[in-house]
Amino acid sequence: MKTEKNGLGKNEIAVEKTRLQDFEIPLYKPLLDGKELEYVSECIKTNWVSSQGTFVKEFEKKFSSYVGVKCASYCTSGTTGLHLALMACGVKRGDEVIVPDLTFVATGTSVVHAGAKPVFADIDEETLNINPESFRKKITRKTKAVIPVHLYGNPAPMKEIVEIAQEKGIKVIEDAAEAHGAKIESKMVGSFGDAGVFSFYGNKIITTGEGGIVVSNNEELMEKVNLLKNHGMNPKNKYWHEVVGYNYRMTNLQAALGLAQLEKIEEKIAMKRQLAKNYERLFSECKEVELPIEKKDTRNVHSLYWIKAKNKNAKELISEIEKEKIETRPFFHPLSSLPIFKSKQKPVNSNMVFKQGICLPSYPNITTKEQEKVVSAVLRAIMQK
Ligand SMILES: *Cc1c(COP(=O)(O)O)cnc(C)c1O
Repeated sequence: MKTEKNGLGKNEIAVEKTRLQDFEIPLYKPLLDGKELEYVSECIKTNWVSSQGTFVKEFEKKFSSYVGVKCASYCTSGTTGLHLALMACGVKRGDEVIVPDLTFVATGTSVVHAGAKPVFADIDEETLNINPESFRKKITRKTKAVIPVHLYGNPAPMKEIVEIAQEKGIKVIEDAAEAHGAKIESKMVGSFGDAGVFSFYGNKIITTGEGGIVVSNNEELMEKVNLLKNHGMNPKNKYWHEVVGYNYRMTNLQAALGLAQLEKIEEKIAMKRQLAKNYERLFSECKEVELPIEKKDTRNVHSLYWIKAKNKNAKELISEIEKEKIETRPFFHPLSSLPIFKSKQKPVNSNMVFKQGICLPSYPNITTKEQEKVVSAVLRAIMQK
């Protein structure tokens, strides 16, 4: 069978299978150490398992207050959250939306789902986040919105992005899927743009299994989000459908899980920041790697800790480290390199860091001993000629 150049060939499918086997140290596992079981059991005992019930509403209320915004609307995933936010911002066919080239595919595909064209801005090689000057250069008459991404938990330069966007009349939708609790000064990410989107997939800072949420201070925009996610049904007139909508609702079961997770979010973030400090210390003698940074007056929540190897290819590194039963992960392929987007762009920095970067095991309760094992495996792989 013929596959795309960067798709999975026969050998790679075999590698993929071994990846499903247990690693001694996996990349991620969620920490469910609060009232998760109690709250989920309550849903079952009371019969409220679908998308109505008290947990969904409470989760929205508590999450919006955590982020410091007026409104929040739960949905089925970060991806559907981005789709809803784009539609509510009026993005439609013929529009362009600027996204960073280095991000998870959903940042780009949600733009396609909204009927628009994603345009790829380059990133800053130090922070991996969208470069404001590259964003500015990509703006055309068709640009309707920009989606800065807080990649791996590090806040994107929101002041600069918002300033350029306001000057040009462009909407800002933050992809905060990986950055719950990340801050610039004392302001939470997700609260800078016209709307912010978070994901609750299993390897995010907090999880509901699958799930997402849209947040905003703009009540009118959020009314559109609520309308679209609920079959386009007028909330005051049952079964009167005003637009062709979607069913993007989260269940009460998921929200119950999310509420328990949210109660302990600051503990989880503290654990993430501690594991980042440990990695930084363990790599401090090594001149061959570059590490994540935390800009002054920001809080990086390190959803995944990463390194860039200056003189070794990421793919080789991963397969070496895998031999020691430690799971690591490559950076995302630059979106402009994925044939699905049919892009002719080739941003320099995203393509460069893609070849160098890997993500290391980053579950909140990883032990220092496990981290030492990871770092020695990485160092051995790097030193190998
Ligand atoms: C996880 C993620 C998403 C998508 O979230 P899902 O809940 O998995 O749909 C979008 N953007 C980024 C940057 C992500 O990491």
